[in-house]
Amino acid sequence: ASLGASKLTFSDLSGSFQEQVSETQERIAAFKAVVAENKFDFAFQPIVDLESREISHFEALARFAKGESPYQTIVFAEEVGLIQDFDLASSRRAITYLSQQSAGSPVKLAVNLSGQSLQNDAFVDALMALGKENSGLAGRLMFEATESSRIHDLDRVSRVFQALKQMGFSMCLDDFGAGAASFQYLRALEVDYVKIDGTYTRRLLSSDRDSLLIRNLCELCRDLKIKTIAEMIELEDQVTELSSLGVHMGQGYLLGKPAPQPVFSRPGGSRSRR
Ligand code: C2E
Ligand code: MG
Ligand code: MG
Ligand code: MG
Repeated sequence: ASLGASKLTFSDLSGSFQEQVSETQERIAAFKAVVAENKFDFAFQPIVDLESREISHFEALARFAKGESPYQTIVFAEEVGLIQDFDLASSRRAITYLSQQSAGSPVKLAVNLSGQSLQNDAFVDALMALGKENSGLAGRLMFEATESSRIHDLDRVSRVFQALKQMGFSMCLDDFGAGAASFQYLRALEVDYVKIDGTYTRRLLSSDRDSLLIRNLCELCRDLKIKTIAEMIELEDQVTELSSLGVHMGQGYLLGKPAPQPVFSRPGGSRSRR
């Protein structure tokens, strides 16, 4: 059924295509090594209450070898079907981090999970097992489901969310409003937080339509008992506007950049220019 493709051999392919294939294979091998040997770090970025400016928790953002864009690496891992291995490694890392903290400094973390991972049975089983073993830390860990891959089987993912919530973990929908299925996600998935996609923050000050959408989303979330977070905040005026629209929390360079360790210095106190 391969429409004559059987006659095509690898050596018939153009040189550049062959190069692309072997380059991809090298990247796959390199990424597998990253996961197997835990060769990644976290950068910690604070999520801040917009009214009190107090830090609620830190998002643990994956960092790879120098020069490698985390975003590109994650997208690649999704494309080649390795993201679930990474998401399990980063969940483990977050739990290790929390378990090693001294009792007096209760940092809370959020880790990212790709929608693709959440639809993978082996990943879900492993995550559930990890969650059960570490439910004592659940009050300090939140999972952010990113919208980069569309979730098709919402019933299934909904059960996963419910189980994690029952163990005490918090759930967040990340990049809300960026994908095509946001409203459907809100219907199916019981979450504690919605993180409004950064494109809304970016346009907010110049677009009434964006303000309107945020205001109404906040109202909807309030009725659903969901807290809202805005990301990519770079300006004080954005904080003022977001706060007046009803957004609870914020994240962005203005409030705190991703750093190798959680930084607790009170953000937004000084308005230094960068
Ligand atoms: P995200 O979860 O939406 O994370 C926010 C991204 O925006 C981060 O990029 C962060 O460094 C950046 N950022 C934060 N504040 C600002 C700001 O004020 N201005 C600007 N211009 N950028 C800001 P990063 O670290 O490159 O991560 C990109 C994406 O990669 C994340 O987007 C998340 O979807 C994904 N990601 C990161 N770590 C993981 C992980 O462990 N697992 C999975 N599945 N995805 C991850
Ligand atoms: Mg995130
Ligand atoms: Mg986000
Ligand atoms: Mg985003």
